[in-house]
Amino acid sequence: MSNFDLKELQNCDKTSWDTYKPYFDELNQRPLTEESMNAWLTDWSELSRLLDELGTQAYIDTTLDTTNESFRERYMNLVENVQPQLTQADQDLKVRLLESGYSKDDIALMLRNMRNEADLFREANIPINTEITKLTNQYDQLTGGVEIDWEGEKLNLSQISVYLQDEDRPTREKAWHAMKAGWFGIRDELNEIFLKLLKLRKQKASNAGFSDYRTFRFRELGRLAYGPADCLDFHEAIEKSLAPLVDEGLANVKAGRGLDAIRPWDWLPERGMMIQADDLPPLKPYETEDELIQGGINIFNQLDETLGRHFADMAENGLLDLESRAGKAMGGYCARMASQHKAFIFMNGIGSHDTVQTLLHEAGHAFHDYEGTQPLIWQEPAPMEFCEVASMSMEMLSAPYLVKEKGGYYNEKDAAQAFLEHLRATIFFFPYMATVDAFQHWVYTYDESEGEMTADMLDAKWLETEERFLSGIDYGDDIEFRKMGWHRKLHIFQIPFYYIEYGMAQVGAMQVWRNSLQNGADAALESYKSALALGGTKTLPELFAAAGAEFRFDVPMLSGLAELVQAKIVELEAIVNG
Ligand SMILES: [Zn+2]
Repeated sequence: MSNFDLKELQNCDKTSWDTYKPYFDELNQRPLTEESMNAWLTDWSELSRLLDELGTQAYIDTTLDTTNESFRERYMNLVENVQPQLTQADQDLKVRLLESGYSKDDIALMLRNMRNEADLFREANIPINTEITKLTNQYDQLTGGVEIDWEGEKLNLSQISVYLQDEDRPTREKAWHAMKAGWFGIRDELNEIFLKLLKLRKQKASNAGFSDYRTFRFRELGRLAYGPADCLDFHEAIEKSLAPLVDEGLANVKAGRGLDAIRPWDWLPERGMMIQADDLPPLKPYETEDELIQGGINIFNQLDETLGRHFADMAENGLLDLESRAGKAMGGYCARMASQHKAFIFMNGIGSHDTVQTLLHEAGHAFHDYEGTQPLIWQEPAPMEFCEVASMSMEMLSAPYLVKEKGGYYNEKDAAQAFLEHLRATIFFFPYMATVDAFQHWVYTYDESEGEMTADMLDAKWLETEERFLSGIDYGDDIEFRKMGWHRKLHIFQIPFYYIEYGMAQVGAMQVWRNSLQNGADAALESYKSALALGGTKTLPELFAAAGAEFRFDVPMLSGLAELVQAKIVELEAIVNG
């Protein structure tokens, strides 16, 4: 039975489907019995790991240098000439497995997920997915290629953000207007891309027999533990319990700084962050990428030896690309390297505290990948809502180690300021999150029999939704730009409905943090690690429970956590102001 030698793949053309086809043919023809099942699953899984990592690496390369044509061609070749055949071949094997009736406890959940995917699968959607991937890639190209004139230099959107966080308010204002011009320059193209995506997504849902995209997408995202109505309830709980706290916080900042208004350049909505809190200059945690990495190694070693080793492993193996540079795609992400059982972190560091915070966050994802390894590739991915608990808890559990004497980047006062800003941002983020999610609920349930969707309608709805949750920012004459807020949220273009996960996870992470305060850091960390180690072998509520948290998002839960955060904020303010 063994023409199934994956080592031989090393010498073949990795960019051609012909290389992989014989392996899938063999898997498709191999007789399946109780006895042969285990080896069959393992072979298929190992092959899938190779292909998964090949695609991941090709994608990573395109984001490291968006101007490199050969990277782009290689990635697009995989998208167009390998991925469609792979999807079909995988589907055939999934059907074989499901039809065999084989099951065992440790793969029951994996089989449930596969059944869900197989039920949604339609051959007609393969070319549509290819189209969608091309369009979402265009979003990266367009936003990555924006050139902003800044004092004789050309900056990209990531690079301008260093000035958007400048301690000098007029500099921030100037940078904000410069950035604005960049987004206006690609406005029409982004509108066009999104309206195309909308049509394609609706077509996918309809092909799969669903009357609306939202219902389809909830199934596609594997949201089996909650539905659209739960999300709408969560929005309402945020509106009732957290939005008033944010308004109060903004009013305090306004009064404290003697400002006549909070303007958009005083505020980073995506991060829920106030700039220049308490009129202190922004933190400057490090100078070089090496210093940033060394700080990470120190912090994670202090926190937990195993986690520290994982991070050092990434540093040693070139799996960290952290600093911003021209041509790099925007944003930050952590990618699982399924074959090596490692992870890669991509970021656009600019020397700010925000960069440190992002590193702590992405490291949490990476630890999940390292810790969550399972025998079969399909047992590994946890639901996204829990993946973000892994990353967001790491941001909070690391906080005590931000001080230099514990390996971090700051003196005591600056460390207190950093965590203070993080806690404020944690609460301030919820209204923005609710805006992004509620906007999409409207977009994908809008009834086009009342007229075709237009960019103007999207703009108007964004404005209305943002005002519902977040009324305290004064945009002055820049309402037109405020309406385009949805352009600046990559998720809306690339990963529809994937955002409420951050809100749910933040509620989980705050509970993990609460445990560390009430039961001690070690106990909280042990639960955290044991939950990570489960990978995707448990349901979402079970994973929350393993981490010591409840999967609940009502007013009492949100108010209780907000109270704890407020108390800590008062404590930290005393250190910052003392
Ligand atoms: Zn994340």
